[in-house]
Amino acid sequence: MTILIADDSATSRILLRGTLKRWGYDVVVAEDGAQAYEILSQPNGPCMAILDWVMPHMTGPEVCRRIREANREPYTYILLLTSKNTKIETVEGLDAGADDYITKPFDEHELQVRLRAGKRIVDLQADLLKAQEALRERANKDLLTMLPNRSAITEALAHEIARSHRDRRTVGIILLDIDHFKAINDTFGHFAGDAVLRETALRLKQNVRPYDVVGRYGGEEFLVVLPNCDLEQATQQAERMREKLAGEKMIIEGAELTVTASFGVTVSDGSDSSPEVFVRAADEALYLAKASGRNCVRSNPA
Ligand code: GH3
Ligand code: MG
Ligand code: MG
Repeated sequence: MTILIADDSATSRILLRGTLKRWGYDVVVAEDGAQAYEILSQPNGPCMAILDWVMPHMTGPEVCRRIREANREPYTYILLLTSKNTKIETVEGLDAGADDYITKPFDEHELQVRLRAGKRIVDLQADLLKAQEALRERANKDLLTMLPNRSAITEALAHEIARSHRDRRTVGIILLDIDHFKAINDTFGHFAGDAVLRETALRLKQNVRPYDVVGRYGGEEFLVVLPNCDLEQATQQAERMREKLAGEKMIIEGAELTVTASFGVTVSDGSDSSPEVFVRAADEALYLAKASGRNCVRSNPA
């Protein structure tokens, strides 16, 4: 755990630094409020700070206020160190966003206990963030294929449409659906069907650029978002994916099977329409591909 000490008095800094080091904390120091703010604002800055009240450039409460305004994650636990111990000033410090305060000259034992309480809060908050992140990831992932799920890929598409609208570019959109997938399930069983979905996902992922996004849109339907692609490039990409699927047999539970898919391609026209509009356009092209005998690519507009 790293603690920032901000104090304009060199003597106080040395004293406090020695004490904190003795207790096993890593310490960084700032000589004034502006420096403290800068250090705390860094992406991996300390999560705990002991700030002197009166400092050049920015007071302790002012640093607090700015840190709280920035609403940074993870949380910064701030302890104000002050010789001011009137009630009004205490209230002012807490109102600025300090978590706690301790009056100078500080009692070592009291400081130690208060720092421990602060560390508990920082640790709890870090655990909470981690849990939140894990939940978010789970909520966005299809657990069979480990691809973004329908809501995540739709969100990615919405994001790319908005960006392409701003940058006056186009986004390629491919919707593909495995052919006669029901027959694979019926013949080889549901687990084999699952394995086919996983292998399909893998082949799709392996054959796109790093910044393209492949998601599982529904049962055996996948949506591919291709930033900075026009209709022709997106159609070529779909054709490559089609070949990668149909061209090499899958070994599923010891059996060799040929899996094909039909592809519908469209492109965002730079308008800021909703993702559903473009998915529908791709779906119409996909319908044409199915009607044309499957294992082929169709685009909309053709
Ligand atoms: P088409 O060529 O017209 O697309 O025919 P299809 O058989 O692929 O299409 P249909 O919509 O008739 O069948 C899709 C099947 O996909 C039905 C459903 O049970 C199956 N399915 C959907 N999700 C999963 C899954 O997660 N695992 C497995 N094994 N099967 C799934
Ligand atoms: Mg199908
Ligand atoms: Mg389907």
